Amino acid sequence: MKRQICCSCGKEPLSRDEVGVCKKLLGVKTRNFFCIDCFAAYLDTTVDELLERIEEFKEEGCKLFL
Ligand SMILES: [Zn+2]
Repeated sequence: MKRQICCSCGKEPLSRDEVGVCKKLLGVKTRNFFCIDCFAAYLDTTVDELLERIEEFKEEGCKLFL
């Protein structure tokens, strides 16, 4: 798996969850990846809410998080 860097703050490497949620919400072909903090700000939501959504995606068995 390619190392992904947060396109906003430059944090690296991004965790599997961070990459997965970016793909899930921005589309699998996205070239923009965010760390969880920047992605929450980008989506105008909170980190907690984003973490909750990640858990939901995992429960749905989303392949992006395996
Ligand atoms: Zn960041």
